[in-house]
Amino acid sequence: MRLFNVAAVMLLTTLVASESMAQKIVIAHRGASGYLPEHTLEAKAMAYAMGADYIEQDVVMTADDQLIVLHDITLDRTTNVDEVFPNRARDDGRYYAIDFTLEEIRQLKATEGYRVLSNGEKEQGFAGRFPMGTSSFSVPTLQEEIELIQGLNKSTGRNIGIYPEIKGPAFHLEEGKDISQAVVEMLKAYGYTTKQDRVFLQTFEYEELVRIKQDIFPALGVDIKLIMLIGDPEAYPWMFEADGMEKVAEHADGIGPSHFLVIERSSTRDNLKITPLVQRAHAAGMEVHPYTYRVDPGQVPAYANSFEEMLQQHYFEADVDGLFTDFPDRAVQFLNSRR
Ligand code: CA
Repeated sequence: MRLFNVAAVMLLTTLVASESMAQKIVIAHRGASGYLPEHTLEAKAMAYAMGADYIEQDVVMTADDQLIVLHDITLDRTTNVDEVFPNRARDDGRYYAIDFTLEEIRQLKATEGYRVLSNGEKEQGFAGRFPMGTSSFSVPTLQEEIELIQGLNKSTGRNIGIYPEIKGPAFHLEEGKDISQAVVEMLKAYGYTTKQDRVFLQTFEYEELVRIKQDIFPALGVDIKLIMLIGDPEAYPWMFEADGMEKVAEHADGIGPSHFLVIERSSTRDNLKITPLVQRAHAAGMEVHPYTYRVDPGQVPAYANSFEEMLQQHYFEADVDGLFTDFPDRAVQFLNSRR
C-alpha cells in the first residue's frame, strides 16, 4: 500500500511537472528579431519556423486609420523615412507614423534598427545583427501579419498564437484615434474572441487596459486574455504593494514585466534575488511573461554565465510561464532539452 502511494505520488509529480512544463511558452519578441529586422513578415515567418508558441505584434495607427505593425509611434528608427519624406518630421524632428497614410508607409523600406549619431551618421542598435539598410523589407499591416500566421497555421497544421500590443493608446486618443477599439475589432474579424483563442492582448497603460476590459470587450462581445505590461516601477507604484497583483488581476489575465522586476539586476549567481512579483501574480491567478531576453553582447545579466542559464533561472527558479525573446530558437531548444 505504502509502495503504491509512493508510486502514485511519483506519477502525479511527473504529470504535474510535465503539465507545468507544457505550459511554459516562448514568445517571439517582434518576431525572430535577433536575426532579421524586427516586425517584418520575414522575421515573423522565421520565428514561426523556429517553433515559437506566440509571435508578437506592436501596433500603431496611420493617418488613414490603418493598423500597422511597428514598435515605435515614430518611423525614425526602423525605416528610411528620412530619405523618402525628408520634410515630414514634426517640430521635434521625428516622423510620426500617424502623420503618414498607409500608401506612403508602403513606399518605405524597413531596416534593422539604428540610431543617428551627433555627426549625422547612422549606427546600428545591435552591431552583430542583420546589416541595416540591406536587402528589402517593408512595414506590414496587422491584417497582413495575422493572415501570415493563420495561413501558416493552416499549411502546417499547428496553432501558433498572436500577441498584439497596443502602442501609445493615450497618444492615439489625443490624436483623435481609438486604436484599442480598432485592434479589438480586427482581432474579432479574424476569430479571436474568447480566452480559449490563441491570443494575448497587451498594453503598458493600466487605464486603457481597464477601458478595454470594461467597455470595448463587452460592446464587441469579445473576452480575450489581457496582459498588463510593467516597465518603470514608478509608473504604478501600487502594483508592487502586497495586494497589487490581486488588484491587477481584477482586469488582467497576466503581467508582462521587465525581467529586471523578476530577478533583480544586483543578483549574483550564488545569490539570486527573486522578487515576490511572480509568486504574487500566480497567487492572484495570473500568468507571467517577462521581457526581453537577448543573446547580444551585454544583454545577459552578470548573474548568469550564459543565455541558457538565464533562461533556467527565469523559467524554473523564478517560475515564469513564458518569456519574450528576440532569439526564439534558443528558448525553444532550451525548453525541449528540459522535456
Ligand atoms: Ca511590445
